[in-house]
Amino acid sequence: MRDRAPWDAIVIGAGPNGLVAANLLVDAGWSVLVLEAQATPGGAVRSDREVHSDFVHDTMSSFYPLAAVSPVVQGLGLDRFGLAWRHAPAVLGHLEPVSGEWALVHRDRDVTATLLEQLQPSDGEAWLALCELWNQVGEQLVGALLSPFPPVRAGAGLLRRVAAPGGLDVVRSLLLPALDLVNDRFTGPAPRLLVAGSASHADIPLDAPGSGLMGLVLTMMGQQVGWPVPEGGAGRLTDALVQRAESGGATVRYSAEVREVVVVDGRAVGVRLADGEPIRARAVLADVIASRLYGALVPADRLPRRTRRRIQHFRLDPSTVKVDWALCGPVPWARQPPHAPGTVHIADSVTEMSQTAVQIQAGVVPSHPFLLFGQMTTTDPTRSSPGTESAWAYTHVPQETVGDAGPEGILGSWDHADLERMADRMQARVERLAPGFSSRIVARRILGPHELEARNANLVGGAVNGGTAQLHQQLFLRPIPGTGRAETPIRGLYLASSSAHPGGGVHGAAGSNAARAALVGRRLRRT
Ligand SMILES: Cc1cc2nc3c(=O)[nH]c(=O)nc-3n(C[C@H](O)[C@H](O)[C@H](O)COP(=O)(O)OP(=O)(O)OC[C@H]3O[C@@H](n4cnc5c(N)ncnc54)[C@H](O)[C@@H]3O)c2cc1C
Repeated sequence: MRDRAPWDAIVIGAGPNGLVAANLLVDAGWSVLVLEAQATPGGAVRSDREVHSDFVHDTMSSFYPLAAVSPVVQGLGLDRFGLAWRHAPAVLGHLEPVSGEWALVHRDRDVTATLLEQLQPSDGEAWLALCELWNQVGEQLVGALLSPFPPVRAGAGLLRRVAAPGGLDVVRSLLLPALDLVNDRFTGPAPRLLVAGSASHADIPLDAPGSGLMGLVLTMMGQQVGWPVPEGGAGRLTDALVQRAESGGATVRYSAEVREVVVVDGRAVGVRLADGEPIRARAVLADVIASRLYGALVPADRLPRRTRRRIQHFRLDPSTVKVDWALCGPVPWARQPPHAPGTVHIADSVTEMSQTAVQIQAGVVPSHPFLLFGQMTTTDPTRSSPGTESAWAYTHVPQETVGDAGPEGILGSWDHADLERMADRMQARVERLAPGFSSRIVARRILGPHELEARNANLVGGAVNGGTAQLHQQLFLRPIPGTGRAETPIRGLYLASSSAHPGGGVHGAAGSNAARAALVGRRLRRT
């Protein structure tokens, strides 16, 4: 390796987790080099004007409730680096096709409850009861999820709450599958759609434990802090993270793909770039999907046999097709909602959502895909000129396709023809709820699994969460059994990506956990 004083740390990847790690390390006085394979930073947090020059589109992720509740992200003071948050009039909506009614989450829980009560007597009250349950455990739960595993302090707080009278009922509610949670608590379809749709953001089947918790966390965070977006585009969050890190002394290099983590005597001592350049460091933090880190970047003969064996069983989450639209007018919903939502879930029923998830697991492309739909100009008027809409929708498709439940014969190769057919299928779903939608399209872009992975090597096969969120790959089983912490079998190498606990989403926890582990590692080494 080149004879230059080693960096205190190299961070591989300028995604949100990598950038959070870099920030925390420069705050601790370390010299930090961030190496990013792409020409620009951000990973899955970026925005562009590719669809149409007058429209800003978030290339991948858009809404950041997890960042809003994350003590790590909040602690960085990113407002000093130009970050401002924007909220839609309503957090989340679901237009129920049979009744033509909107189910809405408004940031004011009383408004949400009143709207739900109007649709179905007793559902407003039941919603407030769910908010009350969240009041009891929400803060500790989020604290525990975003802490390194095991979550000692937040976990103790959670246990105290659970030991209080009624605590076991709370535990039961948290463990229920989403289908049971919504059927137990609500009578009408509206709140059931809102919670089950939020549970469907992850790939946990709606009849499996863990899905109810996901639905609860996302809807209740919507109630508590909303689902905010960075003013000007998702890339503004990345810009703020980069500027903060650089102002603290970090160096960020672009078009610098790391091909190898160099390991000597069981310790990471640096990296080698794709062009062969070696760079030394005392610690390496990898914002890299676990299957690539252990399957390619660390030479196989440097890994313990059990790690090589266990990574064979690492499971990706499903693949993704995303469509962005530049619209010359607002979305012409068949009925206008009383408060315009930033995110809209599109599915005919909870049963349909559940069936769709089963199809994806079985390798079948859904005929009626569940859509997450974003109205970005509604949420942040700076995204396009007044009266227009920067919109997107994404849906999940199988990693390995065995068939198509729809009539168009999508093969699952996700070439141009497959993508056009899938985008038309998605668009038809929007058109049904918003007649005239297609006539407002000025431009459209389709990003399938190949395009997503080309823009971010972590999105293997279009997987968005660094590995499945199902229970068998969570907590101490993430990314492989016996891990769950940022430390890896290689000394001085830390896993900082969403493949580590607590998984996908823009909360910075995996980056923070890795940075803290590296700081502790250095201290221990010195003593
Ligand atoms: C379409 C889509 C929509 C989403 N929507 C949301 C949402 O609305 N809200 C939300 O909270 N989350 C959302 N997510 C998930 C969220 O964006 C991710 O969980 C999050 O970005 C993970 O952050 P990360 O830093 O771990 O990895 P990433 O954001 O994937 O960044 C990894 C970075 O590492 C770089 N890299 C990888 N390998 C190398 C290498 N060998 N050398 C150098 N650089 C390398 C990549 O180029 C990339 O820049 C979405 C994701 C996608 C794809």
